[in-house]
Amino acid sequence: MFSYWEQRSFSYYDHIVVGAGIVGLSASIELKEKYPQQRVLVLERGLLPTGASTRNAGFACMGSATELLDDLQYTPEADVVALFAARKKGLDQLRARLGDDKIGYRANGGHELISDKEISVLDKLDYLNALLMPITGKAAFLPANDRIAAFGFKGAYAKALIAHTCEGELNTGMMMRALTDMAMYKGVEIKTGATVQSYEETGNRVSVQVQDPFRNEVWPLACATLTICTNAFTKQLLPNEDITPGRGQVLITDIIPGLKIKGIFHFDQGYYYFREIDGRVLFGGGRNIDFAGEETTEIALNEKIQTDLEEKLRTIILPDTDYTIASRWAGIMAFGQTKYPIVKAFSGRVFGAFRLGGMGVALGTEVARQVVALNNIMS
Ligand SMILES: Cc1cc2nc3c(=O)[nH]c(=O)nc-3n(C[C@H](O)[C@H](O)[C@H](O)COP(=O)(O)OP(=O)(O)OC[C@H]3O[C@@H](n4cnc5c(N)ncnc54)[C@H](O)[C@@H]3O)c2cc1C
Repeated sequence: MFSYWEQRSFSYYDHIVVGAGIVGLSASIELKEKYPQQRVLVLERGLLPTGASTRNAGFACMGSATELLDDLQYTPEADVVALFAARKKGLDQLRARLGDDKIGYRANGGHELISDKEISVLDKLDYLNALLMPITGKAAFLPANDRIAAFGFKGAYAKALIAHTCEGELNTGMMMRALTDMAMYKGVEIKTGATVQSYEETGNRVSVQVQDPFRNEVWPLACATLTICTNAFTKQLLPNEDITPGRGQVLITDIIPGLKIKGIFHFDQGYYYFREIDGRVLFGGGRNIDFAGEETTEIALNEKIQTDLEEKLRTIILPDTDYTIASRWAGIMAFGQTKYPIVKAFSGRVFGAFRLGGMGVALGTEVARQVVALNNIMS
């Protein structure tokens, strides 16, 4: 039961965005910049954004050497380079939009630990550097074996170390806070606890059915355009899209006095990643040891993977170090047949930008820019 006033003043928005992750919030900001006089509303099902954007590791990354070389086995060079360029462009736009201080950005670079079986990758760094030079303007990958001991790795796993000169790190919480603040400052409305159940195009309107959990009824909204930024959860609204969810597991230690690592680190083709944050180690990954178990949208811990993370933390990352684990969490990513995000117009009024994979921090802003560029409807 909706009042006359609610129906008159709260049921129509010019542009509705579904999902308050990095893509949805960035898209709402782009829409408000494109159409400053129009009403832009973001609908988010969780009390907080509840996908990947508030649960990731904060790597401002573009792909490790082994990961890019693996991609090159199945994907044409031009496509791998284009995706790398989109990540770089997205990161540049994110930093320019919010400012490094607001997102806790630090350009400490990235490193990849190279195991025995991957050692031949060192022979291919010149090739990779030449391929990426038009985008990076400098050698992206450099051998850095001299730092293995300085970071405290014992060499049992890391037979070599590759420095990634273009990568950085940010504080995920600060970034999402700053994006939310900017969206609200520009006049975007954000409603949380608002699950979009379905939508339908009728004439020059899109009607959007939103579940109101407090009233336990469906709130019918209308808009001129709808932009779906629901990443791993997109099949609920767009069942035919090629999206496979992939859960990610993370843990973080308490503060470790004298911690030696600085910057971001990857190993095993990017399936594992760790970094220093606030004097602690944040460590995540391991999806590759239970792909089937992690192909889910359920936000829950996987004991097998958490045990594996603990073992690798003790033996590879922090040998001979006393530490305690402070907390653990999981988040949901979206994958598909290719690593490309899906950015498309489903009609003149319904758009979507989703399937960001494991590098959406860098890519998200550019994907949001692309989807709003498709939207040419002033209501
Ligand atoms: C553990 C983990 C670690 C990661 N580490 C990194 C990293 O270090 N660097 C990096 O670049 N990337 C990382 N990623 C990936 C990155 O976080 C994602 O690619 C990115 O956040 C995706 O952003 P998004 O806005 O597309 O999706 P999301 O952040 O998932 O946002 C989608 C939003 O839509 C909402 N939603 C879904 N359905 C509905 C509905 N029907 N109605 C209303 N709202 C809805 C969800 O609640 C969610 O908030 C990581 C991901 C995980 C899970």
